[in-house]
Amino acid sequence: MLEIIVPALWTLFTVYIVWYCTSAKHYAPITSTEAKMLWVLHRNGVRCNAKRWREVRRIGKIIGFECECGHKHIQKRPIVSSAPALQIDAKNPMLAKLGSSKKASFERD
Ligand SMILES: [Zn+2]
Repeated sequence: MLEIIVPALWTLFTVYIVWYCTSAKHYAPITSTEAKMLWVLHRNGVRCNAKRWREVRRIGKIIGFECECGHKHIQKRPIVSSAPALQIDAKNPMLAKLGSSKKASFERD
């Protein structure tokens, strides 16, 4: 009996891990400005003539928008995702300066 249950549990566990790492998503909070920008993109993208929209909130945070036409956008992000790396362009002195000042502020903390 154990010879059947143990491989089945490992298979289930493996499937769960693969799903969690590739498909599982959670709501990503966005700002009001971002929600409005996404709504404008929706209007321009599908030539929607709606004049009103509303923010979709969850636990006090904006997670998307709902258009007057019925379109609803919810911002989601994979649970397992790496944060975007800060890349400093060495050719641009302003960006390089920004990067070094950020580094300095990290060192102070
Ligand atoms: Zn619309």
